[in-house]
Amino acid sequence: MKKSASARRHFIKLSAMGIGSLAAAPVVQAMPASATNTADKKLRIVCVGAHPGDPEFGCGGTMAKYSDAGHKVTFLYLTKGEASDPKKTYAEMADLRTKEAALSCKILGATAMYAGQIDGNTVLDKNKNEEMTKMILALEPNIVFTQWPVDGHPDHQVTGLLPLTAWVRAERKFHLYFYEVNTGSETMGFTPTDYVDITSLRERKKEAMFAHKTQDPINTYNDYFKPLEEFRGLEAGVKAAEAFIHFKAKGERASIIGL
Ligand SMILES: [Zn+2]
Repeated sequence: MKKSASARRHFIKLSAMGIGSLAAAPVVQAMPASATNTADKKLRIVCVGAHPGDPEFGCGGTMAKYSDAGHKVTFLYLTKGEASDPKKTYAEMADLRTKEAALSCKILGATAMYAGQIDGNTVLDKNKNEEMTKMILALEPNIVFTQWPVDGHPDHQVTGLLPLTAWVRAERKFHLYFYEVNTGSETMGFTPTDYVDITSLRERKKEAMFAHKTQDPINTYNDYFKPLEEFRGLEAGVKAAEAFIHFKAKGERASIIGL
């Protein structure tokens, strides 16, 4: 497809921001045009996950790519993973898992935040929708990533839908991307629109995943995320990729590259 002048300018701006390589894979648009109105603009990225580890496993490579390019990356965890070990109290587990998340965030260049919901008991209602909308908008994001809500884990369902409501209430002024986790077991019905080449970041992402020692990272990596990175890489024409479903910001929905 022939690129229009504006599409070329957009790519040049991306290159000037040091993230042109994000567009190396056959993506529809790796970065939204609205987020790159000024060449020097630093983006605010918010990545929402139900439990510590979800953003890292789902899109840690992409998040490292953003932070390396100088953008502000915040991981907003809905819960502290309190319920993940029946032999430990919620307080003990929260302490362990927030420590793991702190290390993982350090590796990827992200800042950790917690929304205060409880693992295994997350709530999707009017109040939580209002709370999440306020929380997300206070961070003034250019782009929000969250979990694809068609997922076998109820906490992941809630985590997909709360930011979706925030996006609608904010009149779709930021871009919304959904990511996948443990596809085949947890995420279902995920048909990507965009891919990011994470080949050069695989080891670093792995290190961030392995920081979550309580989450059986070796088997989780070998059974799900290693084959998934490679499968998404095959789809994108690179060695390893992360995949997303992209909802465009208002004003960009009725446009396509070149027109
Ligand atoms: Zn999870």
